[in-house]
This record gives sequence, structure tokens and C-alpha cells, in this order.
Amino acid sequence: MGFVEDKRFLEFKARCLFFDRFGGVSPYPFDSLNFSFAVGDKKENVLKNIENARKSINVTKMAFINQIHSKDIVEFDGKNHDADGIFTDKAGVFLAIRFADCLPIVLMDTRKRIVMAIHAGWRGSYLGISKNAVDILKQRGSNPEDIIVSIGPHICRNCYEIKDDLACKFSEEFINKKNGRLFLDLSAVNIKQLTQSGIPNENIVDLGICTFENSDFFSYRRDKICGRGAGGIMLFNSNSQE
Ligand SMILES: [Zn+2]
Repeated sequence: MGFVEDKRFLEFKARCLFFDRFGGVSPYPFDSLNFSFAVGDKKENVLKNIENARKSINVTKMAFINQIHSKDIVEFDGKNHDADGIFTDKAGVFLAIRFADCLPIVLMDTRKRIVMAIHAGWRGSYLGISKNAVDILKQRGSNPEDIIVSIGPHICRNCYEIKDDLACKFSEEFINKKNGRLFLDLSAVNIKQLTQSGIPNENIVDLGICTFENSDFFSYRRDKICGRGAGGIMLFNSNSQE
């Protein structure tokens, strides 16, 4: 069971990581670390994958949301919500986003110690979920200059081909044209929302992993029927994982 980690968060006593697809129990085509109940995999396999992942990072709970391609963000309360973002100031809970091409984005107010994980596909990005994420943190008293952001594995600007009907919803600066074909840079769309909300550009890191190109991760566009990965963030329990 492997993952990529954004180690900048360690200095703030938090962990931000994105699991790869290996080390789970799900068979082809969900092989093997699938976190989704909605793709056709057996529920018992998914439950086992979540439990094994939870143990591997030593957290008391992995908190998921029912992602619905909205811009809605909820505070973690132990319940299941329809939303595309979740935040908490509680330690020991891993806030998890399911992904297979869409962007899992993690934010942390390093001073107030609030962590947030959001899911941004084209709909959420178009609706402004990254702006909403910063607005919610500001309502909690955050100064955007204290927020660091990690953009996890997602389909990149060279691989996310779209048609005219979608391209016309986004500013031309986010459209990459190659040989008459159109590609959308969803990372840039979200980075712009974050920086326009006051987060310094240098606080934002895109890990630069393309799910479509890198078979260590699930890609809906590449594989159609496949699992969903998970990634997100947790605050350390004050007495552990120093
Ligand atoms: Zn790519």
C-alpha cells in the first residue's frame, strides 16, 4: 500500500497524502486499492481496503463524503454528507477525497490548524469550489497567507481533452489547443481561484502526477470501468507521529 505525500505539511504536524492503486484486495478491473462503493466492486472489498488504508496511516477514522460534483463543503461531524469538500480542526481523522482523474485538493490553515479536502472535476471547478473553500476558511477567521495547498494526482492539461461545449465555459487562458484539439487545464482553473482569493502562489503545489499517464493511479478516462483512489489530509494527534 503506497502513497505520494506532500511533506511540506509535516512541519505543521499534519499529513497530506494520496494513495496509489496498489496493496488492496479488489480484483480486476478495480485492482486493487479501490475506495468506491459506486463502481461495481464488492462492498466487502471496499470496506477492507478502507480499513487497511486506515491502519497503514494510523488514524482513528477515514472520513469520506458522497461526491456530487457540487461546490458544497461541510464540516466533519462523523456523518455521511452529499458534498465535495470536508474540513475539520479535529486531530486523528483523515479527510478523504475519492479520485480517478478529477482533482483532489488539500488545504490547511497552518496557524488556526484547520484542514480541508475538496474534489474538483470540471463541474466543481466551473462552480468555483476552490474559491468557496477559501471563503469558508476566511469565515473561520483564516488569513489566506497562512493557507498551504496541495493538488494531488489528476488528469493533466495535456491529456484532458474536451469538446467545444465545455471549452466555452472556461476562460481561454485555461484551454490548451493542439492540432485542432482542445484540452482543459483544471489545475490552472483552481490555482487561479485560490490566488485570487489571496493565497500566495508559492503556497500552492501541484504534485504533477497525471492519473491518465501514470498507471499507478486509477483513471476513468483511460480505463472507463475502474476503481477510485483516495487522498487527503489529517492533523496529527498531539502525542503521536511527531
Ligand atoms: Zn497527462
